[in-house]
Amino acid sequence: MRLRINIAISLVALIAICWSVRFAVAHERRRTPEFLQAKYQELNRTFFHNQLPPVQVDWADLTEENRVGKTYLKEDNSFVILVDRDTNVRDGELEDTVEHETCHVVTWRQEEDPHGRRFRACMSRIKANKH
Ligand SMILES: [Zn+2]
Repeated sequence: MRLRINIAISLVALIAICWSVRFAVAHERRRTPEFLQAKYQELNRTFFHNQLPPVQVDWADLTEENRVGKTYLKEDNSFVILVDRDTNVRDGELEDTVEHETCHVVTWRQEEDPHGRRFRACMSRIKANKH
């Protein structure tokens, strides 16, 4: 009887270990710049027929600027999207941020207000067509 209990406890422990390793691996994978890059490329493919320019997408620490994401144009006219590491914890938050910054790339300097009508139309289009 005691042996059975021990086996049962070991099994539960083993399952818990496997589960947390799986979680940690998935967690680490989504912390890489490649993961962000893939998100951008997926949006580009799904909503913009790959017509958007290649963009460097990277994790960053935007705590001091109090922002979750940021898009800017470099001197060589290529875009950079930065995603704050600490605030984009859940998948949903991360997706929102990448979508938001992607719409900045789409509507860059097309309107006075960076979150104006065109920008909001871009966001609505993505949100409406998400699987
Ligand atoms: Zn914005």
